[in-house]
Amino acid sequence: MAQIKTIGVLTSGGDAPGMNAAVRAVTRTAIYNGFRVMGIKRGYYGLVFNEIEEFTSKSVSNIIQQGGTILKTARCKEFTTPEGRKAAYENMKAAGIDALVVIGGDGSLSGARIFAEEYDIPIVGLPGTIDNDLGGTDRTIGYDTALNTIVEAVDKIRDTATSHERLFFVEVMGHMAGYLALNSAIASGAEAAIIPEMETEIDQLADLINRGFRKSKSSAIVLVAENPETGGAMGLAQRIKEEFPEYDARVTILGHLQRGGSPTAADRILASRMGAQAITALGEGQRNVMIGIKNGELIYVPFSKATCHSRTIDHEGIDIVKMLSI
Ligand code: ATP
Repeated sequence: MAQIKTIGVLTSGGDAPGMNAAVRAVTRTAIYNGFRVMGIKRGYYGLVFNEIEEFTSKSVSNIIQQGGTILKTARCKEFTTPEGRKAAYENMKAAGIDALVVIGGDGSLSGARIFAEEYDIPIVGLPGTIDNDLGGTDRTIGYDTALNTIVEAVDKIRDTATSHERLFFVEVMGHMAGYLALNSAIASGAEAAIIPEMETEIDQLADLINRGFRKSKSSAIVLVAENPETGGAMGLAQRIKEEFPEYDARVTILGHLQRGGSPTAADRILASRMGAQAITALGEGQRNVMIGIKNGELIYVPFSKATCHSRTIDHEGIDIVKMLSI
């Protein structure tokens, strides 16, 4: 294997708080260990269309506390084609890049796996997504911040729900994974969470109405994971209006509010540890792995495992919401 001298770094897919902390950690650890670093703009778009510039330690000054990503991010159709990836490879080689660190979600790491296999390039991934939906890791960068943002918003909605004695459906992101909905439901004391891993949503709702709201509660909040097939929170509110017309059901869709904001300390630390480990991994000859965390320890997760949608929701969490909302 040729020795790595220059490492390219990019952020791809949806932005997540902590991506900047990860870019900083990758850049500075690489420079500290004698590598050159190239910042690639707008995810894979910057590789395909040659938006690449050298990064110094100063390039990543004063960004650890910022949400979003200074490298910008994008979804790049061209990279999903063999021609696009060929252009990406040629630009990468012309810039002298020998290895890549890709920070992104499921799609970004799937793209990294395909690119690495096609061109025999060492690539290490970092899980950067608020959804916490990657396999082989307990946490993804951005999840903790998004969870805290949601809880802050739900606390405010609760004031209105209580004052007006209303039922609120609050829609959050995560159409493939219910971690945000379930754990924000626990943290905000919500009455229920409707998540993609469980299909009994109308039964759950009837149970909620009969068990709590109807008998003793003056307000109820249900956290709903977005779901394009069922219409998410809007779809549920519509069904409640039809089946229980006596309830004044309202909907709040938190949308992109969940993705921005200054990362929490937990996300900054996770991103810094994972970013540093990505460089260690490349130095050790690791390739085509994502840095994950299990029980506090950093581990290497093959891309195939990270992107296989093998995670299952924890049933203890579902029971906790149910028990604590009586
Ligand atoms: P988020 O979890 O926030 O949605 P993501 O990384 O899953 O982030 P995607 O839009 O799915 O976001 O993927 C980001 C980019 O990765 C795509 O725009 C595309 O350039 C690349 N990509 C995704 N899937 C593939 C694939 N199968 N082959 C090649 N490239 C891919």
